[in-house]
Amino acid sequence: MKGLVYHGPGKKAWEEVPDPVIQKPTDVIVKITATTICGSDLHILKGDVPTVDDGRVLGHEGVGVITEVGSAVTNLVVGDRVLISCISSCGRCAYCRDGVYSHCLGEEGVSGLGWLLGHLINGTQAEYVRIPYAETSLYKLPDTISDAQAVPLSDILPTGNEIGVLNGRVGVGDVVAVIGAGPVGLAAIMTAQLHGPSKVIAVDLDAHRLDESRAFGATDIVQSGADDWKQQVLALTDGLGVDVSIEAVGIPATFQMALDIVRPGGTVANVGVHGESVTLHIEDLWISNVALTTGLVNTRTTPTLLKLVEQQRLAADKFVSHTFALSQIEEAYDVFGRAAETKALKVLLSAD
Ligand code: NAD
Ligand code: ZN
Repeated sequence: MKGLVYHGPGKKAWEEVPDPVIQKPTDVIVKITATTICGSDLHILKGDVPTVDDGRVLGHEGVGVITEVGSAVTNLVVGDRVLISCISSCGRCAYCRDGVYSHCLGEEGVSGLGWLLGHLINGTQAEYVRIPYAETSLYKLPDTISDAQAVPLSDILPTGNEIGVLNGRVGVGDVVAVIGAGPVGLAAIMTAQLHGPSKVIAVDLDAHRLDESRAFGATDIVQSGADDWKQQVLALTDGLGVDVSIEAVGIPATFQMALDIVRPGGTVANVGVHGESVTLHIEDLWISNVALTTGLVNTRTTPTLLKLVEQQRLAADKFVSHTFALSQIEEAYDVFGRAAETKALKVLLSAD
């Protein structure tokens, strides 16, 4: 089969690789019908994630059809159409039983990312993929959900919902600000609607992303390049500050922005992955009774989100801005990597 193989910083190729095979009775093999590219794939390609080794197939988002089932898998059969979770987890260890799937103690957790726990397994940007712990890492898809609606459920929708909205304790009537209207920030904007906020303010540098955020449920937009961006946000809260401030960029400046606009007693939910250290004065949180949360997505809300997509309460297909054939994946990376120019949001690779 063919897969997108990482060959060290800056190097990748769509090339022939061995077909995946069942290695453990808990595995299944999935024929990919759709996969997407994530911002973290770009980080890996830059060489920011040293645990991803030369020769690894990239990707951790995908949808497909099961072609082979390990002998211990009882809830899936050949021919099932499935959503692949970005977190592959055993479902049985102490952490999985607590819902902290991203820290699964099983020896092969974290499908496709292959880096968070140092488990190196091949990813979803390929014609076929092996999914470990398939019983607890795949979700059967009803025919009514298209690939484009399903694939944001692999990572961005649970991330926005769990690490942004639920950690931020968004409640009825709250004013929520989401800093960064990329796919993850937009997923937080979309899932915040499930909790009845009075306002959801999108904050970004990019005017096009801000425009788009309205279609995901932003009630107000603020361009963070403006000198008075903070005054604009505060004016939308009668000067009080937002109840929940969600950081979805991952740089020190936007983390500080999230702190600057939260009201006393509010919550800052950090979603962004920070490559460099941020300065945090804990006494500022103390004196203003502000809670700070962060974390790695667990995908424990995926089944709920899947139901909501099925009921058309989450328009998940809105994320897909471009579609390419799977074999054109290198061109797709180029379009995704130049998002400011190409206005790409999620680039869907579709198999024949
Ligand atoms: P992205 O790069 O596509 O989007 C980031 C957005 O932030 C862009 O729209 C950009 O214009 C905007 N931005 C940049 N600088 C800004 C500034 N100074 N002020 C306001 N906006 C600014 O990223 P994404 O794919 O949406 O992911 C967002 C973050 O979430 C990343 O850090 C990613 O690594 C992280 N993430 C975290 C988890 C988790 O488990 N916690 C999971 C997935 C992704
Ligand atoms: Zn586990």
